[in-house]
Amino acid sequence: MLWDYQQPVAIRFGNGRVREIKDVAAEMGLTEGGLLVSERLFAKNGTAERIVKDSEGAISEIFSEFSPNPDVTEVDKAAALIREKNLKFVVAMGGGSAMDLAKSAASIALTNDSIADYHGTGKAMPQEHLPIIAVPTTAGTGSEVTCVSVLTNRALGKKAPIVSDGFFPSVAIIDPELTYSVPPHVTASTGMDVLSQAIEGYWSKGHQPICDACAIHAAPLVFKYLPIAVAEPDNAEARQKMCEASVIAGLAFTLPKTTSSHACSFPLTNIHGIAHGEACGLTLDWFARINADAQHGRVQEFARAIGFEDVGAMADAIHELKAKVGLRTGLKDLGLSAEQIDDLVRISRHPNLYNNPVEITDEMLRDMYEHLAATD
Ligand code: NAD
Repeated sequence: MLWDYQQPVAIRFGNGRVREIKDVAAEMGLTEGGLLVSERLFAKNGTAERIVKDSEGAISEIFSEFSPNPDVTEVDKAAALIREKNLKFVVAMGGGSAMDLAKSAASIALTNDSIADYHGTGKAMPQEHLPIIAVPTTAGTGSEVTCVSVLTNRALGKKAPIVSDGFFPSVAIIDPELTYSVPPHVTASTGMDVLSQAIEGYWSKGHQPICDACAIHAAPLVFKYLPIAVAEPDNAEARQKMCEASVIAGLAFTLPKTTSSHACSFPLTNIHGIAHGEACGLTLDWFARINADAQHGRVQEFARAIGFEDVGAMADAIHELKAKVGLRTGLKDLGLSAEQIDDLVRISRHPNLYNNPVEITDEMLRDMYEHLAATD
């Protein structure tokens, strides 16, 4: 087996470390021209302004006009601001949406292109990019350590990741206290993304030993701490452990890439508005059962390594976890028509599906969606 491992992001983890943004920028020689891409809540509640003030002139602009699952037009707006103000670096503080928008804007700003030219077109991103400091505020995507930017083109009805080495942030500052304000449903959904990334990173065709170890570390933390973080938003231990799981699951999947559950999540989010992590988790136990005996027993080994008797027991636990934290276990309320199920089958045929260890046919997808369409 041949494998390579690369992880270029410096990680600073711990409560209160958001206050180190200025020092990190200074260590990188960045003393002016910073753009803070900030989650709207932090732009509204004064946190973003305080970060700008504390930066003593290093950060001069705030951009917070973007939506969850950011649109290509919003990336273009951030890039236009960078060009107009001749900005030199980007601090991305928010969930995956803020970080992914910032990553693409930090690359595209050095060209006169629209990000739409690169989104889902196969055109390689330019190599040059502004330095990025990533500060996640959800325990979810792991985007702070990945080379992925997931964008949506609402005009074309398309959601897809762009991958570029230029998207790796220089530094990730993970401050669990920033996640205390995340509402329970978002905590649940983003936490399910962590679990999906760990499990899919492990069983991806691109698996490799260092990422396996990360997946085995991250997944049990989600089973243990997600219900606590949802029920007790200020529980410091649960928030900290979910942040630890999130960044380590990010390391677990960024090289192997995600698989079937992420492929299916794209139409579930795009067409039916289901939050990203909830959409990933919706199919995770189904694919666990499909993949149970793949890779000469590796998936069974994973289930045992994280404390289950076998993959069947792990799949049951995923289902129970979803129910416990208030996430969907079915799609019955949507009253899906046969045509809508056809669309889900067709659009789930995303490149990530081909990373799944078992070949997924249209019939398998149809069985799954018909089952989910009949399940509460
Ligand atoms: P998000 O960034 O869309 O945020 C979800 C909601 O939570 C938003 O309404 C946001 O305003 C709010 N929020 C965020 N932080 C908050 C806080 N601290 N307090 C209160 N509210 C807060 O959600 P996400 O799950 O972090 O990111 C999802 C996006 O990331 C999707 O587009 C997904 O496809 C993408 N993604 C990217 C990667 C990657 O490697 N780049 C990996 C997985 C997913």
